[in-house]
Amino acid sequence: MNEILKGDLNDLELILNQVKAEGLEFLKGINDRRTSTNAEPMEYSNLEAQGSGALAALAAFKTRFDDLIVAATGPRYWGFVTGGSTPAAIVGDWLATVYDQNTQTVKGQGDISANIELETIRLLLQLLGLPEDAYLGGFVTGATMSNFSCLAVARQWLGTQQGQDIAKTGVSGTLKVLSAMPHSSAVKSLALLGLGSQNLIKVKVMPGNREAMDMNDLEQQILELNGAPFILISSGGTVNTVDFDDFEAISKLRGRYNFWWHIDAAFGAFAACAPAYAHLLKGWEQADSITVDCHKWLNVPYENAFFLVKKEHRLLQMASFQNSNAPYLGDPLDNFNYLNFLPENSRRLKALPAWFSLKAYGSKGYQDIVEGCIARAKELAAFVENGASFELLAPVRLNTVCFTLKGEERQDQVFEFLRILNDQGVVFMTPTVYGGQHAIRAAFVNWRTTADDVLMAIEQLNQALKKI
Ligand SMILES: *Cc1c(COP(=O)(O)O)cnc(C)c1O
Repeated sequence: MNEILKGDLNDLELILNQVKAEGLEFLKGINDRRTSTNAEPMEYSNLEAQGSGALAALAAFKTRFDDLIVAATGPRYWGFVTGGSTPAAIVGDWLATVYDQNTQTVKGQGDISANIELETIRLLLQLLGLPEDAYLGGFVTGATMSNFSCLAVARQWLGTQQGQDIAKTGVSGTLKVLSAMPHSSAVKSLALLGLGSQNLIKVKVMPGNREAMDMNDLEQQILELNGAPFILISSGGTVNTVDFDDFEAISKLRGRYNFWWHIDAAFGAFAACAPAYAHLLKGWEQADSITVDCHKWLNVPYENAFFLVKKEHRLLQMASFQNSNAPYLGDPLDNFNYLNFLPENSRRLKALPAWFSLKAYGSKGYQDIVEGCIARAKELAAFVENGASFELLAPVRLNTVCFTLKGEERQDQVFEFLRILNDQGVVFMTPTVYGGQHAIRAAFVNWRTTADDVLMAIEQLNQALKKI
């Protein structure tokens, strides 16, 4: 064994205690850590022949990179849709690393950790009030991969409607690929997608400051397809104003038209946890596939999301992701292996942070997190609406505040104002364009955020105003 590795093995207790101490120090200081960085771009170091061991690497890392680590997991990082990590989620994430399972099967000898993943999906379906037996879900890195996974199955369905096996033939059937000894996963990659972004037909949004689909226009567009099968991608929470498509109305179209219904509910899915907002999702259990992010409102560390595809489509799902061309025997759920049901082959136990957090806090815990975030969004929105300097661009429908500087003449200053605000390092928000206007987005998805944090943010907004 390499001498340095041997030393680290001997010092394992010391090393992990040091990591614990480091983690604790970081999390204890999270409220005071800056939400933005003005560190200079760094010089990159080189690989040494002789390593330094884990403790020295940790010390060197701290010295060099401490300034680069922003308080993204803290209570006032409201950019993008950034969640956080609950204590139990950290337990799960750390242990997933320590256990280092390759999560594939539910029965077998080498590993059966897929049972934990399937149980976690079940817990999530219960949390979200979706039918427990209807969906086959799996964890992927983010909503991007979740959308990707759902649409791969949707594409397979669309092909089947036209008598085509697209995973095998590709979309056009004319693109040829050469290789000598391709790994099975390379062949799997060739099977994926090829739908073509320019084939997307835009449906109008509803009038009156909405981002939800106009159902009349949708139906018009469907009629123009003359009965051809299609995929419908609907939104369960748009990013700027968290508007929801009308899922009840869409589910009523199911009997009349032949389509695959996908819902991107990356963070809006968690409206299901708050009784007063669950109606936004009414009808969503009719969807063929659903995308949900966990590293947003479930507050587990990046990278974590899951996707759901109706179990009735399991053969399509398997046709899309099958890792080998082994003849398929019987029901694929009887000899289940995740590697035939989602994009990745080898995977860590991605479900563990979610499992721990769900067990630790239950549905009431998540109701409190979700309702707390919504309350915080409303508090910020009230400040924006009631003052003279800012203007709300859309009503707060859930957890995001989309606003701008008041007055047409200040439009040019909005992004500079945001730069100054973020540079103060106490609160972080992100730029957007909404309805043709330069705007600022604050998304509330962190369990730690309190009313005091909103007050601190308001102080920062006022302070930044004086600098512009
Ligand atoms: C965040 C988000 C995505 C992308 O998710 P990642 O986790 O960044 O991959 C997709 N759709 C919606 C609605 C989102 O909010």
